[in-house]
Amino acid sequence: MRVYFHTFGCKTNQYDTEVVRQALESAGAVSVEAPEHADVAVINSCTVTHVGEAKMRSFVRRIHRRQPKLQTVVMGCAAAVDNGTIAGLPGVRSVLGGVDPAAVLNAVGLEGEPIDPILRSFPRGARAWVKIQDGCDEHCTFCATTVARGANRSRPVEEIVREARVLGAHHQEIVLTGVHIGTYGRDVRPATSLGELVEALITNVAGTRFRLSSVEATEVDERLMELFTGAPDRLASHLHAPLQSGSDRVLRRMGRHWYTNASYRSRCEALAARLPTFGLGADVIVGFPGETSEDHRATCSLIEDLPFTYLHVFPYSERPDASSQRLGPPMQPDVVAARAAELRAMADHKAAAYREQRGGGMADVVVLGRSRGRVRGLTEDFLDVSFPADRRYPPRCRATLHHRADGSLVAEPAANREQVA
Ligand code: SF4
Repeated sequence: MRVYFHTFGCKTNQYDTEVVRQALESAGAVSVEAPEHADVAVINSCTVTHVGEAKMRSFVRRIHRRQPKLQTVVMGCAAAVDNGTIAGLPGVRSVLGGVDPAAVLNAVGLEGEPIDPILRSFPRGARAWVKIQDGCDEHCTFCATTVARGANRSRPVEEIVREARVLGAHHQEIVLTGVHIGTYGRDVRPATSLGELVEALITNVAGTRFRLSSVEATEVDERLMELFTGAPDRLASHLHAPLQSGSDRVLRRMGRHWYTNASYRSRCEALAARLPTFGLGADVIVGFPGETSEDHRATCSLIEDLPFTYLHVFPYSERPDASSQRLGPPMQPDVVAARAAELRAMADHKAAAYREQRGGGMADVVVLGRSRGRVRGLTEDFLDVSFPADRRYPPRCRATLHHRADGSLVAEPAANREQVA
């Protein structure tokens, strides 16, 4: 059986697709790169925005047009909250909520070995994702993910360590991902924590650099802070901490009760004070129902004050099954657009200033590969840099960063090109 895989959404979805691919391949299926060459398509869906869902539906129609005999299985988050719309799409044979490799095997008519809990390979490249937990116990009013993925469920530490050892042998960097990784370990007995997990990984997996995917600022505990400062070549000095709003009033309306403007600020400032290089990013929602200009100003001033090096700015996206739609009518699109543009301009300015400041400094760079005539690299503080394309480079190296007039950064490997690890 020839199977075509396609993933919409986040790193957790991308990881889940690889788990399903591994299960199908161990049952004899062959992965193919194009729907034309496939008997079955497995689509992993996302429900974060209705735009993303619409893209997925048109994609399913498109591959059916290209290969009318194709049998399509749609799994993942949008499938989990489907009201029958996905099931009615052409070529769709099964709609499976969440990601269960055994259910996909059954849906495509394959008998499989017991599902291997360890992902043994990840698409070629310098970086790999490892999912450490799934689900979330919170109920943010704008979010459909909890409905789609259920409660917080942590993978056992030893299983994650075994997987990271296998993948770390082929990838310079492993990104620890999930739905709410800051709550890792709270659902197990005895309870553990993200900090304890990262420490176990650094102790038991040689050489690999670990990076945290999205983590709530106030869930970065003292143990993690110590690892950020004590093991800079093993835990990337980068935090992507969803902010969503700088207004405590809006945070309460969003149901984000575990932090305030002040606690978010103090945690980020504490990290910035301890880390010589520090990549700080955040997700921000603009135009949440009832957002006033004072609320927006509170967000702007927090962003102005904190050392952000990039931002992801999202106009509020109404989710049919999210409770936020009962919080008032959507805001005027032109107001939302203007506020989003203002935040993006602030982000661009801060990002450019940070790159300039990094000029002349040293970086720990994982070489990502060649694309469009340049060699790309990723620094510990999440900067995209390039190397002169006329040479070969070790997969990871310390390098001097040179700031160019166009605002980009060029990396010059340290003279002895010593490998970092
Ligand atoms: S923390 Fe909030 S936004 Fe994040 S997954 Fe949980 S409910 Fe959704």
